[in-house]
Amino acid sequence: MDTAQGLIGGTAESADTTVDCTMNAPVPANPPPALGPSPVAAGDTQLSLDEARAAITAAMRPVVGQEAVPLTEALGRVLAADVLSPIDVPAHDNSAMDGYAFAGAALASGLPLQLQAVGMVFAGPPFQGRVGAGQCVRIMTGAVMPAGLDTVVPIELCRVDGEPASGLVHMAAGLLKPGENRRRQGEDLARDKPALSAGRVLRPSDLGLVASLGIATVQVRKRLRVAVFSTGDELRSLGQALDPGCVYDSNRYALMAALQRLGMDVLDLGVVRDDPAALQATLEAAIAGADVVLTSGGVSAGDADHTRALLARMGEVAFWKVAMRPGRPFAFGPVQAQGRSSWLFALPGNPVAALVTFYALVRTALLQLAGAELEPLPVLQARCLQGIRKRPGRTELQRGRVSRGDDGHWQVQVAGSQGAGILSSMSQANALIVIGHEQGSVPAGGLVDVWLFDGLVG
Ligand code: AMP
Ligand code: MG
Repeated sequence: MDTAQGLIGGTAESADTTVDCTMNAPVPANPPPALGPSPVAAGDTQLSLDEARAAITAAMRPVVGQEAVPLTEALGRVLAADVLSPIDVPAHDNSAMDGYAFAGAALASGLPLQLQAVGMVFAGPPFQGRVGAGQCVRIMTGAVMPAGLDTVVPIELCRVDGEPASGLVHMAAGLLKPGENRRRQGEDLARDKPALSAGRVLRPSDLGLVASLGIATVQVRKRLRVAVFSTGDELRSLGQALDPGCVYDSNRYALMAALQRLGMDVLDLGVVRDDPAALQATLEAAIAGADVVLTSGGVSAGDADHTRALLARMGEVAFWKVAMRPGRPFAFGPVQAQGRSSWLFALPGNPVAALVTFYALVRTALLQLAGAELEPLPVLQARCLQGIRKRPGRTELQRGRVSRGDDGHWQVQVAGSQGAGILSSMSQANALIVIGHEQGSVPAGGLVDVWLFDGLVG
């Protein structure tokens, strides 16, 4: 069964077999081990989607350096080091309510209390006076608790005779326990303890947290740089005439956008003809300029052998037939040129296959290379409104539309035509219906796993 845990949060189970090379650095003295049989000698390796994902995950290590950025530019960036709290937050015990602060020991009698107000304190400078037994202070939310006081009675739970700061405060018995409505110093974050850990992909609340510590700059990973190109003689770039038999290159635009969403830098290398010299030149440029090379097209078994032979010559590229639909042909591994090394991910050319393979196999790997600590994506279980025919032995990822049924439960409907080239149904969809490797047909009304695009795609 495919789970988002496997998709996103997979850990390197076989760390001893991993490739530990610093990409786009000089080629290591000990080149990384081959990731699969030579495509020329052994043909393509058959793998389940889970096996493919596990093999890729195990090989990934962060490859990017660090930089300091101001907090205002840190959203979505990956923390490179733990953020230690330089202070206790809150810095003092303070009131959680508007009310009257007093010493909770007075509650021990179990009787109604009358307390004499002796002043007023707002959030900000602490109260200067002394507060004795039988006395209290009018206090506002967030104000520092005056010395010796540990309990706050909310204003709506007491009655005051006279002025707020000098009246007599009456409180019924049994309303409170000592210490109630007081926030403790350091209860949010203790000094010198990690407030956020390295690998965190920074969210709005994290930036608030860092600001609450008085920290203006954070140490983050440099953005992963990904070179993208499409291969195929039939592809035309935007702005070119569409000659007979040709198609516009859509993969590059979809993939570059997906990379942008992941916070990565994109190096756009355009369309490359199915020609070994052109391909080699573009690959060399990609390796020179990026940590990762992401291509589409040209890796299926029917494609001209020179592409595969070239990739095999330039690195340790594994060619896989992944038991998934859409998808299947996929190549992956380190490639080297001019003393530098990058990771290559070669996707199938069919537009939906390219995107689905990207989300199922490449997204997690890129986040790992970028140094991100991955959180599992939520997997919904939804009632499938149609039956889906499926044979065991491969994972199927169908485009679907998830909605809430009248009964309040999630339901999903297959979105449009499911051909690997039909991009419009990808746009109609808001989720992928994932029918696992071992699973057979799904009856109408049966439960299926669903990966929501929100989070996965955005
Ligand atoms: P390939 O994987 O190169 O055999 O391509 C499979 C199918 O996908 C062919 O119909 C190609 O024309 C189409 N295709 C390949 N690359 C792209 C691309 N970048 N944009 C749109 N369609 C593509
Ligand atoms: Mg092609």
